[in-house]
Amino acid sequence: MYLRIDRLQTELPRAEEPDPNAAAAVQELLGGRFGEMSTLMNYTYQSFNFRGRKKLKPYYDLIANIATEELGHIELVSATVNMLLEGSTSTRAPDQKPLGAAKDYRNSYHFLATARTTLVGDSMGQAWRGDYVFNSGNLILDLLHNFFLECGARTFKARVYEMTDNPVAREMLGYLLVRGGVHAMAYAKALETLTGVQVTKLLPIPKIDNREFPETRKYEDNGIHRVLYRFSPDDYRDMAMIWNGPYPDGTGDMEVVDGPPPGGEMYDLEPVPEEFAPEWDMEMLTEIADRLRKAA
Ligand code: MN
Ligand code: MN
Repeated sequence: MYLRIDRLQTELPRAEEPDPNAAAAVQELLGGRFGEMSTLMNYTYQSFNFRGRKKLKPYYDLIANIATEELGHIELVSATVNMLLEGSTSTRAPDQKPLGAAKDYRNSYHFLATARTTLVGDSMGQAWRGDYVFNSGNLILDLLHNFFLECGARTFKARVYEMTDNPVAREMLGYLLVRGGVHAMAYAKALETLTGVQVTKLLPIPKIDNREFPETRKYEDNGIHRVLYRFSPDDYRDMAMIWNGPYPDGTGDMEVVDGPPPGGEMYDLEPVPEEFAPEWDMEMLTEIADRLRKAA
């Protein structure tokens, strides 16, 4: 089961200007083949379907725990898309074409389907697909797939980084490039323990250092690239049997930290009357909520 904390895994700046086409590009990192929905659901279903959980607990713990971190990553990418869409339409009467600008934005569904918020889909508007999940049941094959998936995810993130200099998008990308690096390294190390093959030597893929993306630096300077957070009050401790030893960059040891990162504030999205979200007449809803509060 899951507990939930109403915070983002890292602090994001407020968007200063709407950037709906950057939002469309960032969608790839949410609902594309190599996006956070894919990492989340791959590791989640591999943990649900894991055979030999007790006998192979370090591997089960690693996959189940990383799956839980990915749940916070879909939240972080969604928050980014939502902030990039803030202010991209105008509040005025329906006959004044308040959504007029949206016909020229790349993703119409942001305005037609979700009232200026994220979609469970990719940068071209295609819905995320369950067949992006690979779960063969063979532990080595699934771990190899997960390693590949994290390397693909890193490639896509680096390309989206090169598409936009929007500070909200880049802050999210800096954090997730670092966290994805941890996951790629964790799956590589798991494969090394099982096969003796030095998979970590393949890293990084592509062969560009995280430090070339300046927003990663403060996280790496704080050692976040050597940390696996343990997203549970009591469980998943045995992943420390895999995640340990000196990190290859020589800055210190790999470490399991109990509990989630401190994270950052969850933003309150403003009502968008022209999308009828949460309603055209916001006053009516606010009055009802106020009455509930008074009655409580
Ligand atoms: Mn992720
Ligand atoms: Mn990951």
